[in-house]
This record gives sequence, C-alpha cells and structure tokens, in this order.
Amino acid sequence: NQPLHELDPDVAAAVDAELNRQQSTLEMIASENFAPVAVMEAQGSVLTNKYAEGYPGRRYYGGCEHVDVVERIAIERIKELFGAEHANVQPHSGAQANAAAMFALLKPGDTIMGLNLAHGGHLTHGMKINFSGKLYNVVAYHVDDATGQVDMAEVEKLAKESQPKLIVAGWSAYPRQLDFAAFRRIADEVGAYLMVDMAHFAGLVAAGLHPNPVPHAHVVTTTTHKTLGGPRGGVILSTADLAKKINSAVFPGQQGGPLEHVIAAKAVSFKVAASEEFKERQQRTLEGARLLAERLMRDDVTSAGVSVLSGGTDVHLVLVDLRHSELDGQQAEDRLHEVGITVNRNAVPNDPRPPMVTSGLRIGTPALATRGFTAEDFAEVADIIAEALKPVYDAESLKARVSALADRHPLYAGLK
Ligand code: PLP
Repeated sequence: NQPLHELDPDVAAAVDAELNRQQSTLEMIASENFAPVAVMEAQGSVLTNKYAEGYPGRRYYGGCEHVDVVERIAIERIKELFGAEHANVQPHSGAQANAAAMFALLKPGDTIMGLNLAHGGHLTHGMKINFSGKLYNVVAYHVDDATGQVDMAEVEKLAKESQPKLIVAGWSAYPRQLDFAAFRRIADEVGAYLMVDMAHFAGLVAAGLHPNPVPHAHVVTTTTHKTLGGPRGGVILSTADLAKKINSAVFPGQQGGPLEHVIAAKAVSFKVAASEEFKERQQRTLEGARLLAERLMRDDVTSAGVSVLSGGTDVHLVLVDLRHSELDGQQAEDRLHEVGITVNRNAVPNDPRPPMVTSGLRIGTPALATRGFTAEDFAEVADIIAEALKPVYDAESLKARVSALADRHPLYAGLK
C-alpha cells in the first residue's frame, strides 16, 4: 500500500506535471472543466474494486449492497435535476451513452439524422467512420451559411424525404440554442424518435439557464464532465416507457460491469449541480462567453480577418472564424498555447482548410468559471486572446498577463 509517488515515480511525476499545467495555464477547451476534490475523492475510492453487473437490486454479483446505495442516489439526483422519468448512469462515456441509446432504438441499416460534423455535430451523430456512420444510414443536416444557425427548414425537408427512425439534436461546436420543440414536431411528423445529446450544455440546463430538452425528447444523453463539471462519464435519460430498452442496451448490450467509483463521483457532482453556487458559476460561464464574443468582434480584431461565427453566443463557447485571417486554426491554437491559453482548433462550416488545420477555434469558459473567474477577468482573457490573434503580438507581455490571472485564481490549492 505504498503511495503513488513511491510505487511509481514515473506516473506520479506525469500526474504532478499535469496538475501544474492545469494550475499555471488558462483552460479554455469548451468540453473541459475542473471536477471538485470531493468528486475526485469518490472516483479514487474503493468502489473501483467492485463488480456490479446489473442494476440496483438486481445484480449478478454478491456484495452489492453499498454500490446499490450509490447508484440509486445518482439515479434519483439526475432524474430530479432534469425532470426525467428514467435515468441510466452506467455509460462509461458520452460516446457509449450515444451508442447504447441508438442500440436501444434502432436496427443496423436504419436511417438517422444528425448535425454534420464540420457544422458542429459530434462523431457519434453519424460521422462516416464512427460506429454511427457505419451501422446506420446517415442523413446530415447543416447550419445556414448566412446565419450560422441550424437550418430547420432543411431539417424538415430532409426528414420528410428520408423518413429517419431517429433524429439527433445536439452539438459539440455550436454557439446557439436548438429549438427542441421544432425538432420534436418534425420527428413526430415522420414517426422518428428524437434524441437530444446535451453533453455540452447540460450544466446550463441544470442551472435553468438553457431550455431543457427532457420534456421534448424521447431520449436525452449527456456527458458528466463538461459544463456539468463532474467525472468523465455518460448518462442516458428517457421517458419511462423506454426504460427497459435503454437499460438492456447499456447492460448487457454494450457494457459489462459498471464503474461504481465513477457513478459515486457522478452522484456527488449531481448534488453540486443542484446548488445555488453551481447556478452562479454557470451564470459567470455564460457572461464570460458573451464578453469573449463581444470583444473578439471589435474593429481592431475584425480588421485582422478574425470574426465570430453566428455573430455571438448563447452558450458557454465562442467559435472564432479565421477563414479571412492569415492565421489558420493550427497556428492560432499554437499562438494561444504559447501564451498559456489552451483551446482547440475547429473546422468551421465550409472550411477551406483541411481538418487537421482548420479555419476556426472553439473557445469555452466553463473551466475558468469553475476557477472563479469574474466578468472582469473574462474581459481581460478576451483582450489577451484578441491581441494574440493579431498579425503582430508581444508573446512575453501576454504570458505575464495570463500568469497574473492564473495567480489570482488558485486551482486545487490543497493538492500541492
Ligand atoms: N456528445 C457530444 C455532443 C460531445 O461533444 C462529446 C464529446 O466531446 C461526446 C458526446 C462524447 O463524449 P466522450 O468523449 O465522453 O465519449
């Protein structure tokens, strides 16, 4: 029972270095967050040792009395948080939640509709070499070029033409809110299931700052580690009538033993997500993104060919459009990395550059909001990013400004 740094100094050193990276740089990858210490404690607990195939009260292993308690707490908390009739908290990840939900509702060869990957969709919404693109016949919808928003007229037209069995509404890189009622109306017109993947915006929904898809969709999937701020993992919510199908698609359909230590960590994060403090944090998340968009649309920035897709944001991220900038997505990502800000490059709709290079950046505020950033701090971050994306920039002074912000908001201070 030696501690990690004694038993395995190599791994310990890499973990320490990663902690230092998280503490000393500004994390702005839109899908990332900082889990509370209590969540990490639950995830690092003895629950990792327990096999528990099945569901609470109906397990295929003995000794499940305590993990049953944990899993029931997680289920009840997330049902309450989103007003769902049924919850399965076992999916190991968002991708597995989506795979299981599709497995429950579809047969191979069925038609599904999802937002095109290059227009902000996720791999699991029908990308060609993902399971979703290989198993199902995919008809992708798009964002409108002029507005940067999902073209609902196209969704309706494609649905009527292709008669999908499932329509997926959800995104990984989209700065606006979807019209869930309109999606449901279209799904009902063609007899399709509506599945909403709220992985990115679940935290905003939990805080009441984004429309809730649960009343509109047959199935809602999410990750637990993005705006929701918990451990890495997935969840499936559904109407009561689909509960059995969903559960058997997860186990034994897709997975073996559930990760009860992760489920415990999920339960803790759902408790946090129901708090006033969490709501206040999500408000700062949105305010930060709004300020970022506003400041990246000022004349001194747009004159360098930088703009903001859809002209702003309603959520926790901003999509920077570099199609008219000298910088491509890779160069812009590298520049921000150089000054201590971590983001990811991202394809923009109709991107003229290849997928490994891209002409966009996706910049998110959830992790910094968790770190305690205020509107004033976000305005400073926005100005640093704006400076870094100009043709001439002073890396040293920008690095110093990043360090000052990181120092102002210590992260995981107790961890070393
Ligand atoms: N769904 C959406 C909308 C996502 O953005 C992501 C991850 O980026 C996923 C699903 C997949 O989650 P995971 O990485 O946990 O498999």
